[in-house]
Amino acid sequence: MSSRIHDVIIVGSGLAGAAAAYQLSRKPRRILLIEAQARIGGRAYARRFRHDGTAELLEYGGSWITPWHERIRSLCRELGLALRPRTEIRERLAMRDGVPCPLAFADDDERLAHDRAVARIAADAMMLKAGLHENERGETLSGISYAEYMARLKPPLVTRHLQDAWWIVSGGGSMDEVSAGEFLHSCSYESGLAEDMIKVWAHTVEPSMDALAARLVAASGASVLLSSPVTRIVQDDAQVCVALASGEEHRSTHAVVATGINPMQAIAFTPPLTIGPATAVTRGQKGRAFKLWIKARGVPLGRLVTGDGTGVQMIFSERAADDGSMLLIGFGLHDEGARPADESWVRAELARLCPNAELLAHDWHDWLADPYARGTWLSTPYDLGAEFASGSWGPQGRIAFASSDIAAENAGWFEGAVCAGEAAAAWIASHPLRGSAATR
Ligand SMILES: Cc1cc2nc3c(=O)[nH]c(=O)nc-3n(C[C@H](O)[C@H](O)[C@H](O)COP(=O)(O)OP(=O)(O)OC[C@H]3O[C@@H](n4cnc5c(N)ncnc54)[C@H](O)[C@@H]3O)c2cc1C
Repeated sequence: MSSRIHDVIIVGSGLAGAAAAYQLSRKPRRILLIEAQARIGGRAYARRFRHDGTAELLEYGGSWITPWHERIRSLCRELGLALRPRTEIRERLAMRDGVPCPLAFADDDERLAHDRAVARIAADAMMLKAGLHENERGETLSGISYAEYMARLKPPLVTRHLQDAWWIVSGGGSMDEVSAGEFLHSCSYESGLAEDMIKVWAHTVEPSMDALAARLVAASGASVLLSSPVTRIVQDDAQVCVALASGEEHRSTHAVVATGINPMQAIAFTPPLTIGPATAVTRGQKGRAFKLWIKARGVPLGRLVTGDGTGVQMIFSERAADDGSMLLIGFGLHDEGARPADESWVRAELARLCPNAELLAHDWHDWLADPYARGTWLSTPYDLGAEFASGSWGPQGRIAFASSDIAAENAGWFEGAVCAGEAAAAWIASHPLRGSAATR
């Protein structure tokens, strides 16, 4: 068993941990970054297709940043990374009666009911954004699931399918379990229409978002331990002791726990987490969307197709591969019927959503099965709220918490992760390093 003293130990090298390391390195400090996996970046994860010679690096975790994600933009400038604009949507199709077609309505009644439903959603989204928890009819906007919200709205089926497709990339979890607020919040980025959500997916980082995490860590000068899952964190009045699965222990004056909420289920804290965070960790955030990359022929660039309530519910031909074929992103929910690992299932889904396309290859990362993610992006259970809010996740003793999952703003986005990491670093910087390595 080894024992070393550091000023700060950071657990987790996602954007939150990486940003904390970078920020803390502005003053001389001995920083140790401990990461469970063999790579840096967490839910920022780019690689090439596994079974194919495709040259492009593809993002299997998050990819897009919005126009207001200023910290990411600024760090990219500082560290020499470029931004690539999202491909414009050139063709918009929606599934109807099992066939992709331009959005159309059976008759005037259906169109009217559709317009009423989307106007209601837009109004509710803007009221929630303004901080109201009820609309002018006295209907609750928070504390209900998306399924309950839709049951109240009673939109026509065509409208419901459209909203569900956007639910997958906003709520991104079981419709019974995750808050309708996740959906309304994402609608409110623009006009209040779910359809406009994609407008804020403005840029991706080149070559990849994990390159940004890696550059932050390298520039921080932190010592890095990869492939080192943390199992136990014990703190007392004098120090924090971080124990690895290997039995090794590391000690520091302060620590930043930047694992995200769900992986904390595998870490024993002494003293235990306070009640709010402990509840959030036990229940877990519910993000269970899947993201697929599909390489295909016979699809034009910029085609967006939304689904009809099952399987892949959104597919977007995002860019051309070097060989002239197309690279498409597909999103759906891990539910009973979905088999994103299975090529025959993916082929059938592609044939449904893009009938003339030829599947060349597909690939994905199973974030639910990944023990150091245990889910995709933040999706809060509808009956919890405060437990996930940044206010509940203030420092406990010598430990600060940082993740996109608990960010004060832009939670669920990379930007939230970076700002949460920087806030944790600022808290530590505001504390004198009594007896620390830097002052000895
Ligand atoms: C499929 C998908 C699509 C997304 N799309 C977008 C998008 O387009 N735009 C956007 O802004 N965001 C998107 N997100 C969300 C974004 O990726 C996350 O919010 C962000 O990356 C989280 O950063 P983090 O640092 O908080 O956590 P993470 O990136 O999860 O980092 C946590 C780190 O802690 C490590 N760790 C966990 N447990 C331990 C342990 N016991 N010991 C040591 N280390 C441990 C993990 O390995 C990981 O490296 C998406 C996410 C996914 C999965």
